[in-house]
Amino acid sequence: MSVSTKTDGTELGNLSLIAAHSHITGLGLDDHLQPKEASQGMVGQLSARRAAGVILKMIQKGKIAGRAILIAGPPSTGKTAIAMGLSQNLGSNVPFTAIAGSEIFSKELSKTEALNQAFRKSIGVRIKEETELIQGEVVEIQIDRSLTGGHKQGKLTIRTTDMETIYELGNKMIDELTKEKVIAGDVISIDKSNGKITKLGRSYTRARDYDAMGPDTKFVSCPEGELQTRKEVVHTVSLHEIDVINSRQQGFLALFSGDTGEIRSEVREQINSKVAEWKEEGKADIIPGVLFIDEVHMLDIECFSYINTALEDEFAPVVIMATNRGISKTRGTNYKSPHGLPLDLLDRTIIIKTEPYNENDISKILKIRSQEEETDFNDDALSLLTKIGMETSLRYASNLIAVSYQISKKRRSEKVEVSDVMRSYELFYDSARSVQFLEDNGSQYID
Ligand code: ATP
Repeated sequence: MSVSTKTDGTELGNLSLIAAHSHITGLGLDDHLQPKEASQGMVGQLSARRAAGVILKMIQKGKIAGRAILIAGPPSTGKTAIAMGLSQNLGSNVPFTAIAGSEIFSKELSKTEALNQAFRKSIGVRIKEETELIQGEVVEIQIDRSLTGGHKQGKLTIRTTDMETIYELGNKMIDELTKEKVIAGDVISIDKSNGKITKLGRSYTRARDYDAMGPDTKFVSCPEGELQTRKEVVHTVSLHEIDVINSRQQGFLALFSGDTGEIRSEVREQINSKVAEWKEEGKADIIPGVLFIDEVHMLDIECFSYINTALEDEFAPVVIMATNRGISKTRGTNYKSPHGLPLDLLDRTIIIKTEPYNENDISKILKIRSQEEETDFNDDALSLLTKIGMETSLRYASNLIAVSYQISKKRRSEKVEVSDVMRSYELFYDSARSVQFLEDNGSQYID
């Protein structure tokens, strides 16, 4: 199974889930959480975006952990796009995990273990620690340019545990610090005879902007008395990461390979009570994040029961699900229900609806996508692509952007023209034409 998180959206398994939405940088709301017609890559779908804005506020206020939200609507109406926009607006401090329902069925993990891991990836633990400073550690580097209008000149302030040497060497340090690109958090040693700096490693990250300083930069060291000897370090990890690190069979290297295997329930129980203890003692804060499950109808009744129970857990994230199914069978049962979700889960779910797009919206979305893919369509070609999008689907029309571009390049043209779009439409079938083709030629295929 592959689970992508906001901080490492590079995992290949979910690349397609994210790449198609690379133009989206937020929900496109104003200060009053009202959707702007087109903003942050988002177009139209106003009432769903307004509803998502309310959810955003509730998450930010910590008022919604343990709830479930369902984004329901026809295919290609922006359900995933809205979830991605919400994730962007939450910022990188709030954990966001995205999975597709079908991903949890794998050979390596049971489906409930896969879900459990996804849930725990969506809970952040912000741990505060106080530790001694290391010899040579650079605590702070600050360039104060306010006095010189923000330009080249400025004052450099540096605080390290090696202040004595810094005092002695004064302005000579500037060139060396610039040359070695020292930033806060580096551990350095300074050769007193020539002022040469050697970086020994990093201690913690509190990087300030440390760009090249001009020759006019003045060195102002901090008074020695102000130098602290202890520092507070804050790092945020997910419950899942703590599980893996503490799981004796796995060890932390599993975090890099992604091959975490099943984690024993005793390990999780121990972690839960430890984290609760830290919270009690003020050493840690829990940050409930978001778990997004796309194509949630691919889950079966056992998974839904698991979700129902997991939402009651003391460490539950917000679960956002998306589906394009109407009344359909819940997998693993013989009964039908709205969106294929069992009624008890549906009952505790807030539903956001997305609507089909009009021609204007489709045209705008295709235009944004073509810009994102760095292709240049002339107006007629974009109109044709929009027409295709209306008659087939937005996703099919989006896919034709890259194909049309390749065809136009073959003609050595800078712009995509109508003929290129027509050619790609002929070459690649949309689902309706594919069905038609099978109906006409079904006898040639194996049933
Ligand atoms: P499905 O039900 O098939 O999973 P979906 O409702 O999740 O579809 P998306 O995948 O979000 O649809 O949308 C299809 C494509 O259109 C994506 O590239 C998405 O980023 C883009 N898109 C959809 N709606 C919008 C919108 N309102 N503004 C900008 N881009 C959008």
